[in-house]
Amino acid sequence: MLILLPVTVWLTTELWRETRLVEITEDGRNKLELYQSNLQGAIKEHEYLPITLASDKRILDLAQRASPADAAAVNIYLEKLADDSGASDIYFMDRNGTTIAASNWNSDASFVGRNFAFRPYFKQAEAGLTGHYFAFGITSNVPGYYISHPVRPNGADFEGAMVVKTHLETLVQRWARGNENVLVTDENGIVIITSRPEWRFRDLAGIPPSIRPELMASRKYGNYPLDPMPVHQGAWPDDDTLGILSLASSETAPSEGLISDAPANKNAQHTEKTKSNPKPYLVTRSTLPRQGWKIYLLTDKAVLDQSILTAGFIGGAMHIIVMGTIFVLLQRRRAMLEQIEIRDWSQRELERQVRLRTADLMSTNLRLAEEISERRRTEDALRTAQAELVQAGKLAALGQMSAGIAHEINQPLTAIRSYADNALKFISRGNNETASRNLGRISELTERMGRITNHLKTFARRPKHDTHPVDITEPLQKVIDLLRETGRAGLAELDYQAVENLPLVTAEENQLEQVFLNILSNAADACRDEECPTVGIAIAEKGNRILVKISDNGPGILPENLPQLFDPFFTTKPFGDGLGLGLSICYGIMRSFGGTIRAENRPAGGACFTIELRCAQRTGGKTPTSISTAPDTPDTTGTETTAIASGERI
Ligand code: ADP
Repeated sequence: MLILLPVTVWLTTELWRETRLVEITEDGRNKLELYQSNLQGAIKEHEYLPITLASDKRILDLAQRASPADAAAVNIYLEKLADDSGASDIYFMDRNGTTIAASNWNSDASFVGRNFAFRPYFKQAEAGLTGHYFAFGITSNVPGYYISHPVRPNGADFEGAMVVKTHLETLVQRWARGNENVLVTDENGIVIITSRPEWRFRDLAGIPPSIRPELMASRKYGNYPLDPMPVHQGAWPDDDTLGILSLASSETAPSEGLISDAPANKNAQHTEKTKSNPKPYLVTRSTLPRQGWKIYLLTDKAVLDQSILTAGFIGGAMHIIVMGTIFVLLQRRRAMLEQIEIRDWSQRELERQVRLRTADLMSTNLRLAEEISERRRTEDALRTAQAELVQAGKLAALGQMSAGIAHEINQPLTAIRSYADNALKFISRGNNETASRNLGRISELTERMGRITNHLKTFARRPKHDTHPVDITEPLQKVIDLLRETGRAGLAELDYQAVENLPLVTAEENQLEQVFLNILSNAADACRDEECPTVGIAIAEKGNRILVKISDNGPGILPENLPQLFDPFFTTKPFGDGLGLGLSICYGIMRSFGGTIRAENRPAGGACFTIELRCAQRTGGKTPTSISTAPDTPDTTGTETTAIASGERI
C-alpha cells in the first residue's frame, strides 16, 4: 500500500494537470476572445468619426480655402463633436501635416498650428488609407489610439487628413479592476494596454538595441524607458499554445498617474524600487490581425498547483481508503479463514476427545460390567452362604429345641403307651367304653405330636430367596405356635394380639419366620428366670413401614455388648447353649428385605428389639398407629442404649 501510494499520487496529479491545462487553455481562449472584442469595440467606437468628417462639407471647404473664419467655425464644431462622442481629440491636418482645426483649440495643449506630418497615421492617410496608430500624444503626452482618414474634396488630390484620437484609459481601468492578468503588445512588442500598471510600456519582445534609440526618439511611448518584462524563467509563447513562465512581481503599489505622463527619471526610480519576487504564470495568447497586436492572458500557476496538490491529496486519500478497505477486507477474510481453521481443528480435536472418551467409557463399561457380574457372583455366593447360615441356625435351633421336643413328645408317648396298655386291659375286661375314651385320648395326643412335627418340618425347609408381599401376621403366628408347642419358657405370658388388615410387607415368609423365631426365642430365654417372665409383641404402622417391637422383662443387654450384638458368633450364653449366630442371621435377612433391625434397653428393664419392614404397597397416608400394644410394651422413644443394625453397618 505504501509502495503504491506515491505512484497513485503521481498518476492523479499528472492526470489532473493534463485535464486542468486543457481546461485552462480553453478557458484562456474564451477569455481572450472577450478581451479582444472588448478592445476592438473600444477602438471602433470612434472609427466612424474621421471617415464621416472627411466627407463633411465644412471640412472640405476648410481643406480647399483654409480661411481663418472657416477654421474657427470648424474648431467649435469639432469641439462639440468631441464632447458628444467622448473622443479625446478630433482635428484636421492640411496636406503638409499642419493642424488647421482641432477640438482642443481652446486649451493650452491645442494642436492648432502644430505639424504632425511625421506621424505614421498621417503618412497612411497621405497614401489614401485609413490610418491606425497607438502612441503617446506629442503635445498632451497622453497615450491614445489615432485613426486618420484622407480628405479629398471632389475625390481629387489629397488635401489633408481628418484624425480622431481616442484614449483607451477607460478600458485600461476596467481591465485593472478585474482580477485577471491581461496585457496587449503592439507591433513592436511593447505592452501598451494591461490590467497590471507595473507592466505597462515594458518591452516584451526584446527590442534590438539598434532600434531602441529610434523608438525612444519617436516618443511613441512617451518618456517610458521601455524596460524589459521581468521574465524570471521561461518564455512567452510564439503561437496560440499554452506557455509557462515566471515573472518577478513588484511589491510597489501601482502608479496612479499612468494616464498622465510619467517622467523618465521617475520611471527609473520606480524600476529601481521594483523587487524581484518570481511568480509562475500560465500564458495564453491571441492576435489582433488588423493592428498586428497580441493579447496575452496570464493565469496564476499557483491556482493550478494548488488544485494539483488537492488532487494529489484526494488521490492519496482515495488510495489509502481503497487500499485500507482492501486491507481490512483481506484481514477479515484471513481472520475468517483462521476462525474456520480453528473451528475445524476444534471439531477434529473434539471428535478425537470423544473417540478417546468413548473408548475410555467403553473400557470402563466393560470393567463395570465385569465388576457387576463379579458382584452378582459374590452376592449369589453371599446369599448362598447366608442361606447356609440360616439353615445352620435353624439346625442349631432345632438341636436346642430337640431336648424340649423330646420332652414334649416323650410325655405324650408315655401317656399314649399307658392309654394303649390300659385300653387293652379295658377291652380284655370288656370295658369298651373306657377303652374307646382312652383311644380317643391317644388320638388327641398323636394329633398334638403331629402338630409339633409338622411345625418342625416346615421350619427346617430351605428358604426361597425371592422377596414378595407378605402378611406378617401369618409367620408371626406360626412361630408363636411353634414356641408354645415346644413349651418355651417365658412365652406362657405372651402379650400379643393379632392385628387384622395389616399392609403387606416386602419379605419372604420362611426367612421372616426365622427372624421372629430368633428374637422371640432370645426374649423367652432372657426372661426365663424372672418371677413372672413376660414377652410383649407390638405392631405399628409408620409411613410406609411396619414396625414390630418384641420386648421382654429380662435383664436387658449390657451396654458394652450393644455394638457387637449383631456380629456373628457373639453370644453371652454358656458353651453349648448358644452359637451367637441368631442375631447376625436376622440382620442379614432384614437387610435383604430392605428393612432394619435394632436393639435397645427399655427404661423399665428388659430388652426391646425393633424390626422395621418396608410396606409392599402404600396404604394411603395413615398416621402411625399402634395397632396392638401390650400393657407393659417397651417404650421405644426413651431408650437408654441403642444398637442399630442397618445396611450401612456392613
Ligand atoms: P445366641 O442366642 O445363640 O447367644 P444370638 O445371636 O441369638 O445368639 O444372641 C446373641 C446374644 O444376644 C445373646 O447371647 C444374648 O446375650 C443377647 N441377647 C439376645 N436377645 C436378648 C434379650 N432379649 N435379652 C438379653 N440379651 C439378649
